[in-house]
Amino acid sequence: LAKSQSQFNYEFYLPEMEEKMTWRLGIIRQLRQDFSEGKLQVWYQPQIDLATKKVIGCEALLRWPTDDGQFISPVVFVPLAEYSGLIVDIGQWVLAQACQQQKELEALGYKIRMAVNVSVPQFRNIDFVKQVKQTIAEHKVEPGFIELEVTESIVMDDPTAVIAVLTELKSLGIEIAIDDFGTGFSSLSYLQKLPLDRIKIDRAFIKDIPNEDAEAIAELIIALGKKMKLHTIAEGIETQAQADYLIKAGCEEAQGFMYSKPLPSRELVQFLQNYLH
Ligand code: C2E
Ligand code: MG
Ligand code: MG
Ligand code: MG
Repeated sequence: LAKSQSQFNYEFYLPEMEEKMTWRLGIIRQLRQDFSEGKLQVWYQPQIDLATKKVIGCEALLRWPTDDGQFISPVVFVPLAEYSGLIVDIGQWVLAQACQQQKELEALGYKIRMAVNVSVPQFRNIDFVKQVKQTIAEHKVEPGFIELEVTESIVMDDPTAVIAVLTELKSLGIEIAIDDFGTGFSSLSYLQKLPLDRIKIDRAFIKDIPNEDAEAIAELIIALGKKMKLHTIAEGIETQAQADYLIKAGCEEAQGFMYSKPLPSRELVQFLQNYLH
């Protein structure tokens, strides 16, 4: 019995793991091919100043369309792009797209900030700062209109090195935001050492508002931001009640489906043209 059981376990687990690995490698191969064929897209989600209601920025977000008009979620493919190292080239391309978009909007009279997500493997690339500097210079973007979003996992990867890289980026005039704040495991002491401009309150704490516990956490993060002279932006605002609450709590900026979902370039321009504040 023991033998047949162990055989069963062997046959049960291994094919499943193999299947998962095969699936992952398939996605990575397809992503590499579609990226090289120019099939990836960057969409933009507007960010709003809660006091003036003006659009003050956008977050650049990757979109990977499939042949049947659907999209593979970045939640699925970004971790695989990170695992395979593909995110280094893709991330560089996203930054270039965001720079181009920033200039295009500026030419139309909308001078707003572009926020771009950055992953751990990009930070490990020794040419990262040089490439960022070069891309911004090539597109003639004012560095203050580019913001890099880093997560707590980036900071924890190698805090000393990350602080050095962020300090260098910051000295170029680029803004730095900490993304998904409150969901990671970084120690608060790092917050003090990082050259940050902005804290992004994770949607996890916004989605439950109105709720006493969610409000307590949001208020705490906003107070922390104020004390540390950092700007605060809330992610994932879907209702007017959440927006009203955040205004009352002193949060400065917001991003969420209530204002707009992420939009392809042309629709973003239409959104800005029709937006009333
Ligand atoms: P993130 O950086 O935290 O981006 C915000 C995510 O929240 C986006 O999901 C956005 O569409 C979603 N969101 C914004 N407002 C709302 C709302 O009101 N309700 C709901 N339900 N969702 C909202 P998305 O585009 O699916 O991206 C997921 C994640 O994938 C991003 O989270 C980021 O971690 C990663 N990602 C996307 N693009 C890039 C990229 O260019 N580079 C890197 N490294 N990561 C990226
Ligand atoms: Mg982000
Ligand atoms: Mg986020
Ligand atoms: Mg988030």
